[in-house]
Amino acid sequence: MNRSKTPFGFHPCKRLLGLILVIGFVSCPFAAAEVKNVILMIGDGMGFQQIKAASLYAYGKEGKLSFEPYYRAEMTTHSANSYRSSSHATDSAASATAMATGQKVDNGVVSQRDDKPLKTILEIFQEHNRAVGLVTTVPISHATPACFGAHESSRNHYTQIAHDYLTETRPNVLFGAYYADGRGLTAEKACQAEYVVLRSRRELQHLLETAKEPPVQDRSIAGLFAPEGMPWEYDYHNPHTKLFEPDDSSKEDAVSYDTAPHLSEMTAAALELLQTDPDGFFLMVEGGKIDWAGHNNLIEHNIFETLEFARAFQTAHNWARDRKDTLIVVTADHECGGLWVVKSRGKGFFPQVFWSTSGHTGANVPLYAVGEEAKQFRGVIDNTQIFEIIVKLIQP
Ligand SMILES: [Zn+2]
Repeated sequence: MNRSKTPFGFHPCKRLLGLILVIGFVSCPFAAAEVKNVILMIGDGMGFQQIKAASLYAYGKEGKLSFEPYYRAEMTTHSANSYRSSSHATDSAASATAMATGQKVDNGVVSQRDDKPLKTILEIFQEHNRAVGLVTTVPISHATPACFGAHESSRNHYTQIAHDYLTETRPNVLFGAYYADGRGLTAEKACQAEYVVLRSRRELQHLLETAKEPPVQDRSIAGLFAPEGMPWEYDYHNPHTKLFEPDDSSKEDAVSYDTAPHLSEMTAAALELLQTDPDGFFLMVEGGKIDWAGHNNLIEHNIFETLEFARAFQTAHNWARDRKDTLIVVTADHECGGLWVVKSRGKGFFPQVFWSTSGHTGANVPLYAVGEEAKQFRGVIDNTQIFEIIVKLIQP
């Protein structure tokens, strides 16, 4: 008889090891779930009151927007020097840098300190061989997306930001608007850098229907759909009562949502592309014009941009609902306008509101999270913790 074998045919030590492995595998309640995909959604300038106003208009009640059931925390947003700024508040660059890198920088700075780049979440996902994408309703070289895919001393260095995208980080998906005067990322520059360039909803749909290969990690796709910014959602939904003629919609080459994709459509397309990477992905989605409406104290535009941002969340949530490997975080970079909702006027009517400034404020912003490890966000957190929590999930 072979003495090393037990009646079960295994050496006792191996049986013990096997038992430990099985118990460990089955009953380790404290182990973090594997998070393959992270979708970070940033409503630029979307504070608690902006969300309340949009919910009151669309539903007649507060708390009804698609992401609101997943409220987890409120978040501080100050930058390294916001106490010295005129509004005592962060700008979008410093706040996006904090979320993207976990580091506080001065207002206006894009993910660098002392001329040295600060590594971003997007770059860490790339180190883990995962696809990455940036989607926004403002120019893709604007501050918020820039802080995930570029490193510059100023958010105004649009051309260098585009250069960083095309030569250094090369995100697999870049969807948004562009500057018609050639600053920042343009179709010509993207094309020269061997990006597939899309200019309309039709071209985007055509790509999704016909070009299933190669998988997203082997391709680079730039959707540059409108000059200066995507069209206002309010104007699309209320074509006969245009309230505001901002510079961007008065341009001759302005487009409408008849041909350009809404934020929710860009989000759906980005997910369809990014999901082809078996290793997972990072996607940042920005509702950038919520902030622009805040600066202009335009509650109607503010509400319609926020509602489209909520539709983009619903799109992402529907995509992730049956998965066990995806975390969705929804938050803001700062509040804008010092908005206060005075009184509801019921469903379908704009609430009575008061704006206290045309700039940003230092008010805390809400954070919502759903999916794997959403419980990591709780209480009052700082915007730098978004980076810390997400990075820990993918490299424990
Ligand atoms: Zn702003």
